[in-house]
Amino acid sequence: MRLVFTFHWDDPKGIPHPTRCPYPGCNSTQVRLRQVVKKLVRDAVCEEVWAHRYQCLVCGRTFRVYPSGVSRAHTSQRVQKVALLLYLLGLSYGAVARVLDALGIYLCKSQVYGVVHNTLAHTQGVRRESLFQRARVSGPSCGMAAVQYGGRWLSVRLHIHGSRCWTVEVSGLLPDEVQSLRQRVEPLASIVGAQVRTVGEGSPIRGPKQRVKSAICAPLPGGGDL
Ligand SMILES: [Zn+2]
Repeated sequence: MRLVFTFHWDDPKGIPHPTRCPYPGCNSTQVRLRQVVKKLVRDAVCEEVWAHRYQCLVCGRTFRVYPSGVSRAHTSQRVQKVALLLYLLGLSYGAVARVLDALGIYLCKSQVYGVVHNTLAHTQGVRRESLFQRARVSGPSCGMAAVQYGGRWLSVRLHIHGSRCWTVEVSGLLPDEVQSLRQRVEPLASIVGAQVRTVGEGSPIRGPKQRVKSAICAPLPGGGDL
């Protein structure tokens, strides 16, 4: 049996126009687009996105507005959530980094630490479960990792259904343990906004209609470098 965690991401329709200056004490509504800039991001779909650099016409300071799912952080919010889920399921920072690396997403141990602590600093009452004890991988980007659960090894795969839906599949569970495990992981999955379902072995893991390119990846004219 398998547990499948499904993440749905916002449709990145573009970069919103800011209504006012974000700096405390200013709050001006007079802002002007100064530049379209490229931002490198750690993600499995987009390696770079476009951001808009604005200037406030009252205080003179500049700020950037990012597309949905991207912030000032170097790691996309969807990668952050997958990393946080693996940590909440019991893996150490180093084990999370090794599993992500095997699934094709490179974050070093300290970057996983930063993602977890930055996220949990704004979330109250989160209790981590010690479900997965260790991780084993064959190598970078091999497409699969193994996590130890109750003395056995379960397989972990990441399925990317375009830019709007990702699924994390945990396979190798026994039929009489899958429901109890699902009850324990559902509160953790809700923290990262993932839905959990049970799928039999051999059934295909389907997502919504494939959409590989997203609006935030599309090249725009007149862009500059950071
Ligand atoms: Zn201002």
